[in-house]
Amino acid sequence: MVAHSCFPARSGVSSLARNAGKPNSACVLVLTIPNSTCQAITILNTTPSSESACRRCGACCLKGGPALHRADALLFDGPNALDLSLVVTLRAGEPAFDQVRGQVLPLESELLKLRGRDGSWTCALYDAEARACGLYQRRPEECRTLSCQDTSALAAMYEQDRLTRRDLLPKGHAVLAVLAEHEALVPVPRIAPLAKLLRAGGQEALDAESELSQIARADRAFRKSLEERAGIGSEYHDFFFGRGATALFSAAGLALRADARLGCRIQPDPLWRD
Ligand code: SF4
Repeated sequence: MVAHSCFPARSGVSSLARNAGKPNSACVLVLTIPNSTCQAITILNTTPSSESACRRCGACCLKGGPALHRADALLFDGPNALDLSLVVTLRAGEPAFDQVRGQVLPLESELLKLRGRDGSWTCALYDAEARACGLYQRRPEECRTLSCQDTSALAAMYEQDRLTRRDLLPKGHAVLAVLAEHEALVPVPRIAPLAKLLRAGGQEALDAESELSQIARADRAFRKSLEERAGIGSEYHDFFFGRGATALFSAAGLALRADARLGCRIQPDPLWRD
């Protein structure tokens, strides 16, 4: 079975929201987030015309939506723009299954991806009942390129021209100013080594737990600020800041739980093997 590119080892703002941040307004934004503007689903009659044509089995859509490339930026522009709540950011360093290499690897650079739904990675635009794409005529580049019979074209474009958050947010958008700070205080590459130290026990484990708690608190603070100070709802947070600490920790074999006294508690997955 063939699927689209990377999905995490375990997982937008509409065009109005993209433009809503007042340029140069640092962290204090005045935004209006509209209701989700995911486009009405248009199901096309795509009867296969040959052996090589798509048979609409839906395997690619069920196994994960596409990673987005620069050419896909057009999908988020104009009157029929897709809502950015449909996009999840996978940050550099996150472990993700590399479909071309067939293994879980840390991402070398940021990647945007159409999000899944109902707790799975089934593409949010997939209409399971009709077994069809809800955006067929405008589907993303990877979806156009993928052929189950020959995946070489997908492999060739897989890592090329990937879309980033900065490509989708207008220059000067206030959130851009805090992305670097978020990267510094919620550093994805630190999580796996800290998880390993935590599992090893001893004093180093206590230090690791303390640092992981700080990371979790910082991530929560950024998201809270986005909501309370900028009015950007939680449905957009995975686009702006990538997946939250709970998902990032889970990918490193840690369970992050709220704790009334400590704020949060971090426990290693007993079945995890380094
Ligand atoms: S955008 Fe359409 S073709 Fe691409 S994975 Fe989603 S449902 Fe499938």
